[in-house]
Amino acid sequence: MTIAENIVAIGTEISRACRYAMVPEAKPNLIAVSKRQNLEKIIEALDCDHRCFGENRLQEALSRWPELCEQYDGVSLHLIGSLQSNKVADAVRLFDVIQTLDRPKLAHTLAAEMEKQARRPDLYIQVNTGAEPQKGGVMPDGLEALVTLSRDELALPLVGLMSIPPAGDDPTLHFSLLKKLAKRHELPRLSMGMSGDYGLAASLGATDIRVGTAIFGEREV
Ligand SMILES: *Cc1c(COP(=O)(O)O)cnc(C)c1O
Repeated sequence: MTIAENIVAIGTEISRACRYAMVPEAKPNLIAVSKRQNLEKIIEALDCDHRCFGENRLQEALSRWPELCEQYDGVSLHLIGSLQSNKVADAVRLFDVIQTLDRPKLAHTLAAEMEKQARRPDLYIQVNTGAEPQKGGVMPDGLEALVTLSRDELALPLVGLMSIPPAGDDPTLHFSLLKKLAKRHELPRLSMGMSGDYGLAASLGATDIRVGTAIFGEREV
């Protein structure tokens, strides 16, 4: 299958999952995760009019997207990997959405940088729903304080939550928890689901689904 065929097939599967589950919202946004994929593959996706992409490392994103964004109109870039405070300026400049806000210090740094650049990418808080020590994301019991700080005190453009369930866990529990948390805090966007579980995520109300290998094939090491 070509990349264009993969994108169509995944979109069809997502629509079907939403229909069966009677998910009332608009069709979820498919984020093509292009990390560690070669440029030819990314261009193939752009040439079939896909415009929404996710990257997890700032350095890699900077190495190709500024140029691609000049060649293709309407690209929307999501940062889905952890963000160090000293790289916030570049991230605010390049990305349209930053999905990995996970600590107070980063919220303060983002607020200062957005003010400075007069540019306000949408923000999602990453929630560590599996409470894994090695993983990014705020622990579920720390979410409320981070929402209050980000949205109410710093007036950041906080719109959603994101989570990466632990490998090997049933993702259903994590997606359900994330949805509950988003509802509690009145955040409309839900970023969940990857190559192995995008249909499930769609059926549980994802608004943004991050798919890499099922679109592009295996990543380069
Ligand atoms: C790499 C990555 C994905 C995509 O994973 P696939 O299994 O290749 O679909 C999704 N979300 C995040 C945060 C990632 O780092």
